[in-house]
Amino acid sequence: MRLNDIRTAEAKLLVKTYDRTPISFVSGEGVHLLDENGVAYLDLLSGIGVSALGYGHPAIQAAIDEQSRKLMHTSNLFYHPGQAELALRLTEMTGLDRVFFCNSGTEAWEAALKLARAYATLRREEGHRLGTKILALEHSFHGRTMGSVSTTHKLAYRGPFEPLLAGIEFVRFDDIADLEAKFSNEVCAVCLEPVQGEGGIRPVSKEFFAAARRLTQQTGALLLADEIQSGLGRTGEWCAYQHYGILPDVTTLAKPLGGGIPIGAMLCTEEAARALSPGMHGTTFGGGPLACAVAIAVIDTMRRDNLLDHIRKTGKYFLEQLQSLAAHHSAIVEVRGKGLMLGMELSDAALAKHVVAQMMERHMIINRTSETVLRFLPPFIIEHQHVDQAVHALDEILSSAAAANLSAAVQGAQA
Ligand SMILES: *Cc1c(COP(=O)(O)O)cnc(C)c1O
Repeated sequence: MRLNDIRTAEAKLLVKTYDRTPISFVSGEGVHLLDENGVAYLDLLSGIGVSALGYGHPAIQAAIDEQSRKLMHTSNLFYHPGQAELALRLTEMTGLDRVFFCNSGTEAWEAALKLARAYATLRREEGHRLGTKILALEHSFHGRTMGSVSTTHKLAYRGPFEPLLAGIEFVRFDDIADLEAKFSNEVCAVCLEPVQGEGGIRPVSKEFFAAARRLTQQTGALLLADEIQSGLGRTGEWCAYQHYGILPDVTTLAKPLGGGIPIGAMLCTEEAARALSPGMHGTTFGGGPLACAVAIAVIDTMRRDNLLDHIRKTGKYFLEQLQSLAAHHSAIVEVRGKGLMLGMELSDAALAKHVVAQMMERHMIINRTSETVLRFLPPFIIEHQHVDQAVHALDEILSSAAAANLSAAVQGAQA
């Protein structure tokens, strides 16, 4: 099917959950996607932080090929080698003790929320005072299922689905006084993304993260760090919390973990894991042989190719190039982020939308989040030349937008 036929059919057949860009991609290679006409697009978004090793990576192809011939599904009624082998890697990388596997980001976050409530129940049974309230941050994004969306701040995502999970309260981003005021024995979990993704590529401050760790430690509440977007090397460490030297009780991984195959993971401490026993939580597909084999291939490739180091170096270069753009474009408010998780905040939403569209015209994929922020989540294998290509285009687009604005202003003044 060609794009126009797809669009007509989808408009009739699909639930209207997406507002898609009218391009149909049919294949990919390295950091490029190819549309139905064979036009190559430089991908600086990797399918929202998923295609970490780019497209057509031989290690992923080999893992899928080999595992699909052997076995793709067993259910969690039986053993297969994949979960233990992957869990060994993930616990080493994150510093946490135990893993629950699932199929997506929001499912990993659901598991984290359920663990927090179950742990509070256990603590109460053991005679401690711990309530059921959950604190999340303003501008947070934790997913779309009922529990996850209850901890997601944006009203447009939550409002129509009310009533949601009870007992959720939002704390002002990076506001320690607000956190302290809302925290008490009634709180069983404090939720945060060490670097907010959908919220506009905003790293939490060291002080705020430390305050969240200190308060939760005082009462035995759990600190939940959502690393679904920021984790698995995206920021130059396996987890963004490692930049802060803070270990949460629970973390969640998903987006890049399967290199394009759906898989999520919730990791926690030995102490928190006491709260879950057989039958309390589960999934049919989670941690299946195919997804585990691919995730193992992604991690082993990242280690073998020293990609964390590459992410740090390329990310630093990318950030510096964006900062130098900011120095001569007044429309750039701020450049933020770590590693290959970068955001460039512009002065207005219409301009940000224009820049994304113009980049697309030049066959480069970025996106806009939080209205005014251009988001860059390129594949980890991106090279300096790709950064240069993107930065050069951004420079031109911003210059001509500024010139157009100026001439419109002059015309306005003359009229
Ligand atoms: C994308 C994302 C999620 C949700 O993941 P899905 O796989 O879309 O369910 C949750 N938290 C964060 C921080 C995310 O970026």
